[in-house]
Amino acid sequence: MTDYHQQADWTTVNDHQSPINIDTANTVVINQYLPFTMNNKHHLKLDRDDGTTIQVTGTGHASIFNRPFHFAQLHFHWTSEHLIDGATAPLEIHLVYHTSIGQLCVVSLMVKLGPADETLQEIIDNFHPDQETPVTFIIKHWVSEKSYGFHYLGSLTTPPLSEGVEWVVITNPLVTASVAQLAWFKKHFPRNDRDAQDLNGRTIEWYQE
Ligand SMILES: [Zn+2]
Repeated sequence: MTDYHQQADWTTVNDHQSPINIDTANTVVINQYLPFTMNNKHHLKLDRDDGTTIQVTGTGHASIFNRPFHFAQLHFHWTSEHLIDGATAPLEIHLVYHTSIGQLCVVSLMVKLGPADETLQEIIDNFHPDQETPVTFIIKHWVSEKSYGFHYLGSLTTPPLSEGVEWVVITNPLVTASVAQLAWFKKHFPRNDRDAQDLNGRTIEWYQE
């Protein structure tokens, strides 16, 4: 029986953490595209360097599962934090969104090797450590009109590792990174990918064609 006199001792359960290795054989398949739309232009500002990644803050709106979200910031991980059937992507971009009451949703772009994306290059070219750089970027072209990938419940991947974070992991973004761009990230920052965490029975939805 739950003892409400001992509630000071109730420990916080931390078993729904991110990132995870997505075992595609253990997903719930949904044959439609992910309901994610960037509603209008995101006005972004290359804002600050916390020593581990480039962070770009800004304003913008998105519709995620037909709910309105506000854009907060985006940042980069290399190699990717999420694994798909044990495989990493060379770069993972996290677009952090929240609702008006603070529900977080991170839209992850699993970026493949390919031609150098121009916006990614602009971000690299305008990066100055510990300095805010007011540059406007457009990122709408980073995702297709029809995104596919995964949906699950997890956590922030950096402290305080808060749970209850909704994740949308997009496997077909249109942004790609070149060998030179990836080398730039590796040269300027240390490793910044958290290890995959236990799934602990969570459901992963796989939105696919
Ligand atoms: Zn992240």
